[in-house]
Amino acid sequence: MKRRHFIRTVSALSLTPITMKLNGLNKLANTGSQTAPMPLLFLGHGSPMNAIEDNIFTREFRAVADRFEKPRAILVVSAHWETRGTYVTAMEHPPTIHDFGGFPQALFDVQYPAPGSPELAKETQQLIKTTDVGLNHQWGLDHGAWSVIRHMYPDADVPVVQLSLDYGQDAQYHYELGQQLAALREKGVLIVGSGNLIHNLRMVVWDKLELPEYGYDWALEAQDKMNRFILNNDHQSLIDFRKQGRAFSLSIPTPDHYLPLLYVLGLKEEKDKVSLFNDKAIGGSLSMTSVLINRN
Ligand code: ZN
Repeated sequence: MKRRHFIRTVSALSLTPITMKLNGLNKLANTGSQTAPMPLLFLGHGSPMNAIEDNIFTREFRAVADRFEKPRAILVVSAHWETRGTYVTAMEHPPTIHDFGGFPQALFDVQYPAPGSPELAKETQQLIKTTDVGLNHQWGLDHGAWSVIRHMYPDADVPVVQLSLDYGQDAQYHYELGQQLAALREKGVLIVGSGNLIHNLRMVVWDKLELPEYGYDWALEAQDKMNRFILNNDHQSLIDFRKQGRAFSLSIPTPDHYLPLLYVLGLKEEKDKVSLFNDKAIGGSLSMTSVLINRN
């Protein structure tokens, strides 16, 4: 409500001055709390080396964080935490997990000491009704989470919680699980899916990985189709990714890096706008395409 309209509305009521004053304060307080829900992000995380590199992709991770207010906490669905059943990390201080091999020592030396949030873990557990969510005290932050979040919040001052991917469930299930987290957006929680929409490690052309853009024909075909489905809100086609033919089959040989997208899409509301960034195929059979869903 515009201030002038508000004043006119209040003065139309015959209230005593003191009540008017209190009403006014309430009204302003309400106005202040009616902020837009937090955005939703799917981040193509790519190589773990992105954690310590300054490149075209990591600069976009930093830039996207500048487009909205710092969240109260972050909930990450990472491709790298697959479990039987669904779990949420519930420790006060999640350790930084170096869940990869064959990389330089500098990458293993990285620590991302963001606090956890047992409160957010419990809230998440309570919001999900379709399955029992377990509180986990063993995991921490895998590189699907910290390799991207450290660019967005380098001071590690935003609590981070991870939600696992149940590898026994189908795409529809993951999409619907995401939908149950809607209330968190209203409470200042940034929900992030971290994976890669096109992720075929067996077919990577390693000596072309340094090129800013290089994709097989089938990867480019899948990238184009996925982007259209995402931007046109054709979520069902994305849920039915196994029915989309050869380009999709080659792009998604296993669903772990693809499924985090569905959590984010499941939470998109009518008024939200969808945009893409880092939309590049690399190494022939990978893509870094990332999605921002935002109300503004
Ligand atoms: Zn990965």
